[in-house]
Amino acid sequence: MSCPKCRAQRLVEIAVKIAGRTVTLHSCSKCDTRWWDDEGAVIDLPDVLDLATVRR
Ligand SMILES: [Zn+2]
Repeated sequence: MSCPKCRAQRLVEIAVKIAGRTVTLHSCSKCDTRWWDDEGAVIDLPDVLDLATVRR
């Protein structure tokens, strides 16, 4: 995978398990673009926050 913005391939990837799903934070070391994906599908941050919200 490469950065969608600058095409750099030096990315930091952090997998986080939220609500039983594994989402991955990708962070570009070069231009600092960050994005999330949910098992291969890019998702928007509000969706991540929605998954992370604990409903009581
Ligand atoms: Zn980049």
